[in-house]
Amino acid sequence: MTVQGDLTRENAIALLRWYADMGVDEAVSADPADFFTWKPAKSAAPGASFTGAQGASSQNASRSASGQQARRAQSYNAPPNAAAPTNNAAPKQGHTPADEAVMMARDLAAQCNSYEELTKAVAAFDACPLKAGARNTVFTDGALNGDLLVIGEAPGRDEDQIGKPFVGRAGQLLDKMLAAIGRSREKDTLISNVIFWRPPGNRTPTAIETAMCRPFVDRLIALTKPKAIMLAGGAPTQAMLGVSGIMRARGIWREITPQGGAPIPTLPVFHPAFLLRQPGQKRAAWHDLLALQAKLAETRAS
Ligand code: URA
Repeated sequence: MTVQGDLTRENAIALLRWYADMGVDEAVSADPADFFTWKPAKSAAPGASFTGAQGASSQNASRSASGQQARRAQSYNAPPNAAAPTNNAAPKQGHTPADEAVMMARDLAAQCNSYEELTKAVAAFDACPLKAGARNTVFTDGALNGDLLVIGEAPGRDEDQIGKPFVGRAGQLLDKMLAAIGRSREKDTLISNVIFWRPPGNRTPTAIETAMCRPFVDRLIALTKPKAIMLAGGAPTQAMLGVSGIMRARGIWREITPQGGAPIPTLPVFHPAFLLRQPGQKRAAWHDLLALQAKLAETRAS
């Protein structure tokens, strides 16, 4: 089939729509690449420093080596100041590479004693396959010593480009929701997600991808010690609390207990992207925001 020969304007639009529906909504390089003839680059030695987390160009370099993805879960990199992980030997019997990657994430996260170390560890963690398709690692944004931690689902297109969580339309609504209860990411609220790399085409992250990021989220909670946690949407509610069905879970206080810490009141709320699609649900969201405001005032007073 000669696609170009038959490419009418309508066909081209239909083809682009199909690409977008399939999640192919961004050019990763200025030049087309023929992946049928492409050969993966040689795998970097395990433990070699990964330098691509901060910038689009360096992450592009990691993307161009995406043939390494099959081996990803077997190689990862420690944060510069972390001691060698204790379980980075060859995969144990009965463990899949994905199991190993989750254990590596736990190991790395446990070794981080500050937010800065944790940020470096997340940026250097190379075992989550989502990383290869992402431009940037998206970890946190906001006030580190804030008393509220907001946890969302995963970076979207805007977040992937900028490298910060909740910067697109949903993020703007989130900022307005926070402002409505006198809060902001500049002042007193830290924002993160349960996934740190944009899933292709914004697909739902798999359970294993979520499990690989989870130790870092747990460590973020343990290190920043928020007074309350807001889970924005069904995915973080499922990931952090094991509770499915945001329609029923929202507005009901639960607790997350970080390792070695006290239980933290945790409130699932509707995701701002859902509220953009269903503005009629803003009433319930407002109710939840007021409950959050009251809880934070209570914890400040106690
Ligand atoms: N939606 C999320 O859940 N997180 C983001 O960072 C952006 C959109």
